[in-house]
Amino acid sequence: MSATQVTLLESVKSFLARAHGLYIDGRWQASDAAARLTVFNPADGKAISSSADASPGDVDRAVSSAWRAFSARVWADMLPAIRERILLRFADLVEQNAEELAQLETLEQGKSINISRAFELGCTLNWMRYTAGLTTKISGRTLGLSIPLPEGARYQAWTRKEPVGVVAGIVPWNFPLLIGIWKVMPALAAGCSIVVKPSETTPLTLLRVAELATEAGVPDGVFNVVTGRGAVCGAALVNHPQVAKVSFTGSTATGKAIARSAADRLTRVTLELGGKNPAIVLKDADPAQVVEGLMTGSFLNQGQVCAASSRIYIEAPLFESLTSAFEQAVKGLKVGAGMDSAMHINPLVSAMQQKKVSAFLEEARAQNAELLSGDAGPNNGGYYIAPTLVVNPDPALRLVREEVFGPVVNLVRVADAEEALRLANDTEYGLTASVWTQNVGKALDYSARLEAGTVWVNTHTLIDPNLPFGGMKQSGTGRDFGPDWLDAYCEEKSVCVRY
Ligand code: NAD
Repeated sequence: MSATQVTLLESVKSFLARAHGLYIDGRWQASDAAARLTVFNPADGKAISSSADASPGDVDRAVSSAWRAFSARVWADMLPAIRERILLRFADLVEQNAEELAQLETLEQGKSINISRAFELGCTLNWMRYTAGLTTKISGRTLGLSIPLPEGARYQAWTRKEPVGVVAGIVPWNFPLLIGIWKVMPALAAGCSIVVKPSETTPLTLLRVAELATEAGVPDGVFNVVTGRGAVCGAALVNHPQVAKVSFTGSTATGKAIARSAADRLTRVTLELGGKNPAIVLKDADPAQVVEGLMTGSFLNQGQVCAASSRIYIEAPLFESLTSAFEQAVKGLKVGAGMDSAMHINPLVSAMQQKKVSAFLEEARAQNAELLSGDAGPNNGGYYIAPTLVVNPDPALRLVREEVFGPVVNLVRVADAEEALRLANDTEYGLTASVWTQNVGKALDYSARLEAGTVWVNTHTLIDPNLPFGGMKQSGTGRDFGPDWLDAYCEEKSVCVRY
């Protein structure tokens, strides 16, 4: 074993060996369904664990538990400072178990252990503590009124924020713990109860943190986890009549299906969906900064990042030199298992995702697109795809418009910045974008004109708990993070008093 190979903790081995049930009412419960879902290690395609394939009946039990807990109001009416302290203790317990969680994440998701440690744990802890702090900042406003009747009457009015009720959190597979926590923490901070459903591909880390929440003092039933397939378990959860709000992160197609069914009951919905995110490199950009920033922006987590830069528009004078710098960088990437900390690019999450990304590349190859690829990775049954640059792809190729969600990036020569802006905005998506320039005026101009929920200047894909995030156009509705995050988990009630 090489020095860069991670040694598995005993606690990881024993967690993988457990017969995982559903986490309902503060304890493990068996599913009604006998069928199990296999969890694979993307690094070699071998089975490492399994999870319950929850039935609609299981989901009903979990939502009923969340509803009972919410109706009892123990959590919702707890002094905010006490709720905050419990959530901070929850964060401390996650931190104490960080290495175990990071290893589990790499084993089920495939990403580098370095990314699991820094993002899935490091960032998760930042988000947990930031959001715990919002618990004690929930506030309304006092309002002056002009009601003229009856003559002489006086009024005092204010708004109060009240937890919305039971939240359904639906989580994708690309950042299973981090995105899971983005559902759990705002719901709990607001005083709601939650039933969260991880992706069927990556259920392990959320199951592990559920028991840590109980250990921290979150009351039974306030935080439940159900595992299962989207079409069965996910659909039963978002359609449950006792669910007051759905927080969904995933594909645009699934998000639209959820929004349609939520409309029937007017369930509140936040949708964080896909992206086909442009980066515009102007001719005065710093080339070294561009290559460093956009290599990370494009290849982090093998490009399985909704915010990833997947279309890079480069002004003509910089195009040749930047293309060869990107090619050199891509060819220098080591491709291998995430449990080897020396590897830069790791397997995709699943055989299905590998097949999907391969199909985009095969179509491009068949159309004679210019592909510059790096190392293809080990040939051992793992779900590897070589990091690839597609140079000036034909606009008819699917990878020009559709989200690839893999280590594949388009480099496009543009005559000038206006052409770049037109092409950048010519997409149904609007999640993120970046502009690379040393000119402050151009940076401000392009940050206003790019149609995206987040625009970065001279960086890409860097997010923060205090910076609202979400999509325009087909990339979603609503915003996560920032000081107003809990508003999406609260009803705003107006109180009007005559005196
Ligand atoms: P997906 O839509 O296939 O699945 C997401 C989740 O929804 C899974 O837990 C799945 O089981 C569940 N699901 C599927 N069908 C359902 C249904 N009918 N009802 C309820 N739940 C259902 O997405 P994915 O392939 O897991 O994730 C990749 C996608 O997520 C990409 O499109 C990516 O851009 C997007 N994403 C967006 C963001 C963001 O913040 N905007 C972040 C990460 C990922």
